[in-house]
Amino acid sequence: MKYFASLALVAMAAAPLAAAEKDWHFGDGTTPERWSTVNSDYALCDAGLNQSPIDLGGANTRGDIDVALNYGTGAGTIVLGTEKVQVDFAAGMGMMSGGKQFNLLQVHFHTPSEHAINGKRFPMVAHFVHATEAGELGVFGVMFAEGAANPALGAIVDGVAAGKGTPVAFDVSDLIPEDDDIFRYMGSLTTPPCSEGVNWHVAQTPMTASAAQIAAMEAKLGPSARSLQPIGTRLVVAPAE
Ligand SMILES: [Zn+2]
Repeated sequence: MKYFASLALVAMAAAPLAAAEKDWHFGDGTTPERWSTVNSDYALCDAGLNQSPIDLGGANTRGDIDVALNYGTGAGTIVLGTEKVQVDFAAGMGMMSGGKQFNLLQVHFHTPSEHAINGKRFPMVAHFVHATEAGELGVFGVMFAEGAANPALGAIVDGVAAGKGTPVAFDVSDLIPEDDDIFRYMGSLTTPPCSEGVNWHVAQTPMTASAAQIAAMEAKLGPSARSLQPIGTRLVVAPAE
């Protein structure tokens, strides 16, 4: 429930942080997780028809999606848990998409990437989680391939090594590719309770992270990608050619 935990923190900054230990885990990323059998509150994970992640290679239309990211140098706090590496941000950054203003709450990571493109998963993904004032969720995903080290990721990896609660500051835009071509569709949280109505945006172009940076994140996260979900009758928009 990593996304909801952050929403709750925004609404109740003074609430105690001692959340119950989560009762679900990621699997191997391929075998269906059957989270509904763990807790009936997670029924939508198995019954929902608009679940995430998906293979974006199954996009059924093309178009230019206009998204404006208002990311800059941000102050954040390291949040760590089982299968969780996250940075919670102070208010101020956000995403404009579909005429809606989404406020950036946090970025967290998965190893490997959750979405695939034509069957290919990248070694890591960053999910920037946003919410509108009305509580509608919007995520911007950026895949990472192995290559040159990423300076912002370096700051996060150092913060993770220092432990939870560590304050970090880095230029969030360093985690975003220059190429603004994105995939766009409506999906869900990829973790229980798998709530739907999430506005998914995934950058087509990956960023790079060094082998050491990816290894440091893998060491904390372990396998942390949900299995691919059926697209069904959804509209999935790929970048225009
Ligand atoms: Zn995620």
